[in-house]
Amino acid sequence: MPDCLFCKIVERQLSSDVVYEDDDVLAFNDIHPQAPTHVLIIPKRHVATVNDVTDATVFSTLIVCARDIARKRGIADSGYRVLLNCNPDGGQTVYHLHLHLLGGRQLRGLG
Ligand code: AMP
Ligand code: ZN
Repeated sequence: MPDCLFCKIVERQLSSDVVYEDDDVLAFNDIHPQAPTHVLIIPKRHVATVNDVTDATVFSTLIVCARDIARKRGIADSGYRVLLNCNPDGGQTVYHLHLHLLGGRQLRGLG
């Protein structure tokens, strides 16, 4: 998708700190980390928001990727958070679907 920041990262037109990649998924460190581990996990194929997902397997793919990264980093047992922001009220700022993986410290509640 032209002018999509994360498509440009997938296509290596923009640099990022990649932590995992396969045919379907790219994971890279968030540029403004909110926790010691703050990884963004995205489908390589452009989809703008949660609302636009037609093949729901993308959600399990992203979550399994997050879980595996958490295990590799040794934070699976201490705990972590996975988060999908959707549209303005959900706090979405980049309109290419991305799962946040946050961990490595005690995270505050959302309430
Ligand atoms: P969201 O608010 O859910 O749309 O999250 C977008 C995330 O993308 C934010 O946490 C930003 O810090 C992050 N971000 C924006 N630009 C970049 C970039 N070039 N590389 C890595 N992360 C980025
Ligand atoms: Zn995109």
